[in-house]
Amino acid sequence: MTDVLKVESLSVFYEKNQAVNNISFRAEEGNLIGIIGPNGAGKSTLIKAILGLEKATGNVSVFGENVNDMRKKISYVPQRNQIDWDFPVLVEDVVKMGRFTHIPWYKKSGKKDVEIVIESLDKVGMLDYRKRQIGELSGGQQQRVFIARALAQHADLFFLDEPFVGIDVTSEEIIINLLRQLRNEGKTVFVVHHDLSKVEQYFDQLLLINKELIEFGAVKKVYQPEILSKTYKGSIQLFGANENMMVVSD
Ligand code: ADP
Ligand code: MG
Repeated sequence: MTDVLKVESLSVFYEKNQAVNNISFRAEEGNLIGIIGPNGAGKSTLIKAILGLEKATGNVSVFGENVNDMRKKISYVPQRNQIDWDFPVLVEDVVKMGRFTHIPWYKKSGKKDVEIVIESLDKVGMLDYRKRQIGELSGGQQQRVFIARALAQHADLFFLDEPFVGIDVTSEEIIINLLRQLRNEGKTVFVVHHDLSKVEQYFDQLLLINKELIEFGAVKKVYQPEILSKTYKGSIQLFGANENMMVVSD
């Protein structure tokens, strides 16, 4: 079986500071994968390097092809703080952007695209807001609109950077359920996440990083105190008799 994603010896330098150090792994289809690591561990940089948005050395292939030829298949929801929320754009137009990879430059978006936009907004419970400016919405609603944009793209591989930060419980539930549905349809979903209390509940696999790859595997196998402690380099405090873990300084 072809790997959905194959990353080989990926490294990123910002000036002389190495943010991602020689990371290699392979992901198979139908997995919901958490990317875990402390602040500044290179989680966002790793995603951007995989997508070719950050200059990197190493190799990335998607379904066995060069990542640059597979963009249509990949959907990316950036970290909230990287988005200009004051940009004057309607909710439905944000979602329509998800269709642009499918529409040739010389064509207008068609009836089918409009239907997909409506269906995607409906899935995240935001259809009634389609004529609103994105900047008028709450954090959770904005995040749902970006998820709708990702859904509208009909991608096979998804990257979401901290989608649950600064959002309400309802939005979080809607989003995690949609991600589970995508996984059940055989898609591969990577989620940068830092709330360790939800890790076992949310993910099938974990990619633990701190500049370098600490561990990648099934949650049951790698969600262990020693591995977390190695990832967080001592900034993790363990409570309780078994494996109740909590990060004290991130
Ligand atoms: P994370 O997402 O895990 O918090 P980042 O990937 O954002 O980590 O950052 C990894 C490291 O790279 C940090 O030390 C950060 O300060 C640095 N960094 C991130 N983006 C840039 C940039 N555009 N220019 C210079 N340094 C950066
Ligand atoms: Mg980040």
